[in-house]
Amino acid sequence: MSTATTLDVVPQLSGGEWQRLDAERHTDVFNPSTGKLIARTPLATAEQTAAVIEAAAKALPAWRETPVVERARVMFRYRMLMEQHFEELAALVTREHGKTLAEARAEVNRGVEMVEFAAGMPSLIMGSTLPNIATGVDAEVVRHPVGVCAGITPYNFPNMVPLWMFPVAITCGNTFVLKPSEKVPLSTVLLGELLLEAGVPPGVFNIVHGDKECVDTLLTHPKVAAISFVGSTPIAKYIYETGTANGKRVQSAGGAKNHLIIMPDADMDQTVKQLAASAYGCAGQRCMAGSLAVAVGRAGDEVVGGLVDFAGKFRVGPSDGNEQVDMGPVIRDEHRRRVAEYLDIAKSEGATVPLDGRRDFAGDGFLLGPSVIDQVKPGMRVAKEEIFGPVLSVARVDSLDEALAMGDDCDYGNGAVIFTRSGYAARQFKQHFNAGMIGINVGVPAPMAWFPFTGWNRSFFGDLHIQGVEGMQFYTRQKVTLTRWPQENESYQDPVWKGRQN
Ligand code: NAD
Repeated sequence: MSTATTLDVVPQLSGGEWQRLDAERHTDVFNPSTGKLIARTPLATAEQTAAVIEAAAKALPAWRETPVVERARVMFRYRMLMEQHFEELAALVTREHGKTLAEARAEVNRGVEMVEFAAGMPSLIMGSTLPNIATGVDAEVVRHPVGVCAGITPYNFPNMVPLWMFPVAITCGNTFVLKPSEKVPLSTVLLGELLLEAGVPPGVFNIVHGDKECVDTLLTHPKVAAISFVGSTPIAKYIYETGTANGKRVQSAGGAKNHLIIMPDADMDQTVKQLAASAYGCAGQRCMAGSLAVAVGRAGDEVVGGLVDFAGKFRVGPSDGNEQVDMGPVIRDEHRRRVAEYLDIAKSEGATVPLDGRRDFAGDGFLLGPSVIDQVKPGMRVAKEEIFGPVLSVARVDSLDEALAMGDDCDYGNGAVIFTRSGYAARQFKQHFNAGMIGINVGVPAPMAWFPFTGWNRSFFGDLHIQGVEGMQFYTRQKVTLTRWPQENESYQDPVWKGRQN
């Protein structure tokens, strides 16, 4: 059995060594299906974090000189190992996060695709040349790694979100320090074990555990060149501001409030199923989860009636080792209470709750059923705030223009979806909706590895997004070289400026 599933205090990985940190502070890790404590995450001090950064810095010179073809081969082996350990990886996600096994398998698949993308690095990272840009002068641009990169990840995708980052960063020739969410550190440990087995040299990939003190050290340490962050908006903004103020490049993805627009001409049976999958998949804990359904015209009654009927029959229960559930628990008891509170907030603001997910579930898992809030108006808290749980708010409007206007009013801008049979409505929506990832009859328009994850507004801080070619660009810096080889005895005349000087 792997280290990840047997140790009480979660190990960190520094310079190729698994270490049990002597930490004064810890965070408890629970199995959300049972409510039982399964591990403790040590919280590294600034000094302990700096030691891991130094290990990554030490490994950098040799790794960045390693041919990219060899670096990519590590990813081919890594992919094979991930396939071999696929069920173990998925089961671990379910165990520490609580999503169903089917959802965990889908997550690991998305992660494997990132490794496949990174394995193509020799083609992706190529430079370009223009011979004879001036007489006898050739110009070339190539990409170099940036140095030590750090990744700080959220709890909701323990496997996939770390894989958004380090496979690309390290195949670009950087070394990496990953700080996973202290709530779900075990998947990262198993990913690290498999990466070492795939042949990554010591110090190229490191794991440190911690909270603000650890993160602040990553954000300010002079040997860290780049920071990738995924998490909630207030922290994403803090990471961006602090990292850039300390001279680092930063890509920082935040929270979301994703709108789902339902036109009256949509195929209602299909739409209701997709709305439910979008809002309640992973118990609503996805940054691309549908959160506000905006029903146009007569779609309102059909959407609310259909959802109450369909989601009301969901089998909600402990997901660990049990494939007979449609929805598992949320991450923590406090989170369950925070999400449920929104149902009371909605009522106090004048909305109705035709489906209330609060029930007496057996056992100590952090279970909450799916909820529907109806008659939501712009400006209500449930229309504007990220709830991050199995709750779908429904607003009713008279036209697509009104639905687009609600989007203009949204602080976030991750995903937005329209359900319609009208090409015109779909085009208007695609062209004008205020968000960076658009779905047309697709409930969760999360781009796959080859495309950038293009959050807008307060869903992303930075320039170059995670995933796709932008990910490679983020982890590399360009160098332009101009070359001239004069003939013997040729007198020097600046070939570039020749003819331009008075
Ligand atoms: P979070 O912001 O609480 O934590 C994310 C990371 O930041 C963790 O590693 C945590 O240890 C660290 N952190 C927390 N507080 C900190 C502080 N004060 N200073 C420094 N570091 C701190 O997010 P979460 O609850 O783990 O994850 C859920 C959030 O992530 C949701 O808002 C969700 O929308 C968002 N998310 C966004 C995307 C995206 O692509 N935009 C993807 C997944 C999740």
